[in-house]
Amino acid sequence: MCARQAKPHFEALTASELYCPRCGTAQPVRERLLLVLPRGELHEYRCAVCGDSLATRETQSAAPPGLIGRPRH
Ligand SMILES: [Zn+2]
Repeated sequence: MCARQAKPHFEALTASELYCPRCGTAQPVRERLLLVLPRGELHEYRCAVCGDSLATRETQSAAPPGLIGRPRH
């Protein structure tokens, strides 16, 4: 018996589709790097159809090796 999982309607963590107000429906999105921040990167999700910016996501990068030690006050 093969228990095949149904495809979820939405994916919370890694969004592959987002609702696009301009298109009026959920569309596949393209992720692009928007900004490089000191603590991570800011990614932007754009509608693959009309190119409208739908969401942004900030990723936390691993702490640089030089910043692991806690500064003492
Ligand atoms: Zn769109």
